[in-house]
Amino acid sequence: MVTTVDRIPTSDLAAQHAPLQRALEDAVARVLASNRFILGEEVAAFEREMTAALGIGHAIGVSSGTDALLALLMAAGVGPGDEVVTTPYSFFATVEAIVRLGARPVFADVDPDTLNLDPDLAAVRIGPRTRAVVVVHLYGRMARTASLASVCAAKEIPLIEDAAQAIGAFGASRSGVNRAGLLGAGAALSFFPSKNLGGFGDGGMVITGDERVAAQVRLLRNHGAAGKLRHTVVGGNFRLDEMQAGLLRVKLPALETWSAERRRIAARYRERLADLPIRLPPWDDGCVWNQFVVGIPGDRRTALIQHLDQRAIASSIYYPIPLHLQPALAHLGHGPGDFPQAETAARETLALPIFPELGDERLARVAGAVADFFQ
Ligand SMILES: *Cc1c(COP(=O)(O)O)cnc(C)c1O
Repeated sequence: MVTTVDRIPTSDLAAQHAPLQRALEDAVARVLASNRFILGEEVAAFEREMTAALGIGHAIGVSSGTDALLALLMAAGVGPGDEVVTTPYSFFATVEAIVRLGARPVFADVDPDTLNLDPDLAAVRIGPRTRAVVVVHLYGRMARTASLASVCAAKEIPLIEDAAQAIGAFGASRSGVNRAGLLGAGAALSFFPSKNLGGFGDGGMVITGDERVAAQVRLLRNHGAAGKLRHTVVGGNFRLDEMQAGLLRVKLPALETWSAERRRIAARYRERLADLPIRLPPWDDGCVWNQFVVGIPGDRRTALIQHLDQRAIASSIYYPIPLHLQPALAHLGHGPGDFPQAETAARETLALPIFPELGDERLARVAGAVADFFQ
């Protein structure tokens, strides 16, 4: 007799939404009844609730994390001929927003420990054409930016944060605690369903402490319209829907509990996997663990993925191709060897299941299966 075990997925939105079902349905009914679907009370209320939850001055709901980045770069005045210093190891959207504006991404390699942009390597790539710096807080861990932020401030270069995976993350600095969105010009958040605050479709947000950036992004998201059909700048349609905002308002109050559970799972994985010949992500109090990513040296990653798959455990590779080697960016003229740490990460990293509903039993199954592989 064969007993089938439940497959362990990389996320379980059905389980996350089940206890909220009634409240979600109420939100949908409320928006339907309002007959107001664009930039109404739901978006305004969600923005207010986000500023309170994240302790930040301004929150502007937009259509996606990608458009949040685009709006921040547009607000910084990035355009043709400009350079933007950024990481070669992220989701494609980070660099796509730069290239769409006609600017040239200038990469600096990542820190092999955190897989975030190395701030010292980034600082030396800043030159006379640099119009902005984009750091990514990858997997929920804030990039170290203290030194980079002061270089940017001295040169009046906007520091933009891609915090799509890092809502609510914080980092330590000399001056105390930093939070995503407060380091420089502003941060981009995403509500793509796999993010820590996942929506019901696409959505994103710009958060910033800078009133001028906030005002500019508000203009840009709505075709640059300062009044009714009077357009003062060229923007786009980067608006968040009322329906999306209404639904996200239901999930927002649970975010802190979910982040705490992600932290607890990460800590347990780190204990259970401590003696294996793999690279563990370093501990970090302020990380919100959108992913738990380990490094599998020695060409054994594919075999481990298969081993886990045979035991009904899902895993994912984020990201298999570093940005400088993406075919769409061939015009930049990069080749293998240009950013060795990013290339090693692309070759060796593997994301294990981490989501608030995972639970200890499934966690033990994942950790046990990984340990078995190295027996
Ligand atoms: C998800 C993500 C984005 C894009 O967000 P969307 O809402 O999907 O447009 C950008 N950068 C990073 C690092 C991401 O993980």
